Amino acid sequence: MYFILDLVVFLCLVAISYGAFWISWFVTRRRLFKRITGIPEVQNLGDGRPRDERIKGTAVVCGGSIAGLLAARVCHDFFENVLIIEPEEWLSSEDATRRFSWEQSNKRTRIMQYYSLHGLQAFCYSGLLKLFPDLEEQCRYSGITVPPAEANVTLAGTYLRRPPIYDKDFPKTMEASRAGFETLIRRLVLGRGHYDDIKQIIGTVSGIVPSPDDRSRISKVLVRKDTSNSSTVLHEIDASLVVDCTGLSRAGFKWLSKAGYGTAETYPEGKRALTDLKISLDQKLHYCTLICDVPPSVLKALPLPSNTEENKRSNYAIIEDKPTEANGRRMFTIQRLDGPHVMLFVGQYTDASNVDYPSIAAVRSLLPHLITHTPIPEWVFRCVDMLEEAQVNVKYSHVRIPPTSYIRYHQGVNIPCNFVASGDSVMSVDPLFGQGSTKAMLGAILLHTALAKTGCSEKIPANFSEFYFKEHFYKMDRFWQATRSVAYGLPFTTPIPGEKLGVSGFTPWYSRKVRFLAIEDEDASIALWNSGMGFGTPVDIFHPLIFLKTLWKVVSDRMN
Ligand SMILES: Cc1cc2nc3c(=O)[nH]c(=O)nc-3n(C[C@H](O)[C@H](O)[C@H](O)COP(=O)(O)OP(=O)(O)OC[C@H]3O[C@@H](n4cnc5c(N)ncnc54)[C@H](O)[C@@H]3O)c2cc1C
Repeated sequence: MYFILDLVVFLCLVAISYGAFWISWFVTRRRLFKRITGIPEVQNLGDGRPRDERIKGTAVVCGGSIAGLLAARVCHDFFENVLIIEPEEWLSSEDATRRFSWEQSNKRTRIMQYYSLHGLQAFCYSGLLKLFPDLEEQCRYSGITVPPAEANVTLAGTYLRRPPIYDKDFPKTMEASRAGFETLIRRLVLGRGHYDDIKQIIGTVSGIVPSPDDRSRISKVLVRKDTSNSSTVLHEIDASLVVDCTGLSRAGFKWLSKAGYGTAETYPEGKRALTDLKISLDQKLHYCTLICDVPPSVLKALPLPSNTEENKRSNYAIIEDKPTEANGRRMFTIQRLDGPHVMLFVGQYTDASNVDYPSIAAVRSLLPHLITHTPIPEWVFRCVDMLEEAQVNVKYSHVRIPPTSYIRYHQGVNIPCNFVASGDSVMSVDPLFGQGSTKAMLGAILLHTALAKTGCSEKIPANFSEFYFKEHFYKMDRFWQATRSVAYGLPFTTPIPGEKLGVSGFTPWYSRKVRFLAIEDEDASIALWNSGMGFGTPVDIFHPLIFLKTLWKVVSDRMN
């Protein structure tokens, strides 16, 4: 009798504990979902002010790449005028908005990744759809396919289970090269005459001028322009808002410093001087990308998933589970791109400086040596062999990824109220996660949210920049933490000064175990897919059911 009573009490306690765990997980996730994912706000993209109520003056967007083009598109819905300032001369020519990027005769000189591996998270695609409702049609026009965003990422060769909840309406992504993606966005923003109030001029922004009667505001930007007789002239351009989208050159940081912003007599808790805002780490990552120009008959014959099954995404990615002393940590990807192109990619985190896979033969000879849990599928080998046999033309790019950096503007003081920054100018992360374009999209979403809150049409409110960077921290800090956590698990990373390498504690161990669970478990695969495609929150993998299943798997694996 007492035994039964004890059992009932025990079961009640278990049920109450599980319920309490579930409720706290649910409440936390709901809060994070609203605050950090950008998913609720993405629906508002494309809404703006009627033309006669737009904010007076010009939103000046410095840098005309991914973040700059998206920021300009958003500013168009709120400002009388939008001006993109971009240094690369050819970006004002027709070549920059060409229908097929592979027919361009120019190459981006300031974008080292123009011919590198490029993947687009489905979240970014969903934001683009709101900004450009005819996106899918425009992709097709530019030779870009838009398949379901199956991740097809493997854990050392073993596929994670396909997330089932999206079977009917799987979110989409683009199979585009970086050149194809950037050129498409530029064509949509600048090349079709849809957004007449957005203009672009060629020049390099070299500084900012504080407003003479209110130093908390920038009144002008300084633009350096080369003239035909190889002299340089400096122009001053009035700015209602300055958006720094200068990518890795992080020019805004320098303009603020030169103009005397970012310092104070005393710093409130959690705030610091401009010079102390930047942190960097170097994960010593090499990117070797081969873009193969494939004749139509060979392309059709390749055993790519999209050739053998309808509506399939043609990509396969493997990353080794753990680094080794000899080879660091390596990864390989094959991916269909826009037009008649297939990309082969080898990446390597390593201390070695001689990483080089300049030919299909070099990539092919690496494949059998990758350390896998499950063999690489036969179709991958067959594709690589066929590309080699056909002696296709190859465009090779090797990039040593520069140290990834984060300017923690949210901790800054005395930042002008009409200055914001988006994309890599604030934070660059490990490119392997494919989050760069998502960050640029989230920057555009934040800008939209901040501008939509602005009641006045005369000028940007005094708390604009502070609000923007605070929200930027909430939405973007997780990307930096993920980059840091992966990098600190690699023995050759140069850490942030003052920090030590090594990831200890429960979360890294648990995350790896969830990846093993996701090979067979639907719930875990959904959580990982959401996180890989930009739809998740950091607590998704801690769903009580996933948590219990993971622990159960660990115990049962040990017992077997
Ligand atoms: C090798 C590599 C691979 C990557 N792979 C992926 C991927 O697969 N998926 C993904 O989503 N992201 C990827 N990324 C990240 C992604 O490319 C970047 O996050 C993205 O390009 C950032 O866009 P941005 O507009 O902020 O900066 P950028 O694209 O760097 O553009 C900055 C722009 O500012 C201009 N500029 C510079 N200085 C000035 C100035 N003083 N005045 C005016 N203009 C200026 C430049 O000319 C340029 O046009 C990768 C990055 C690298 C390095």
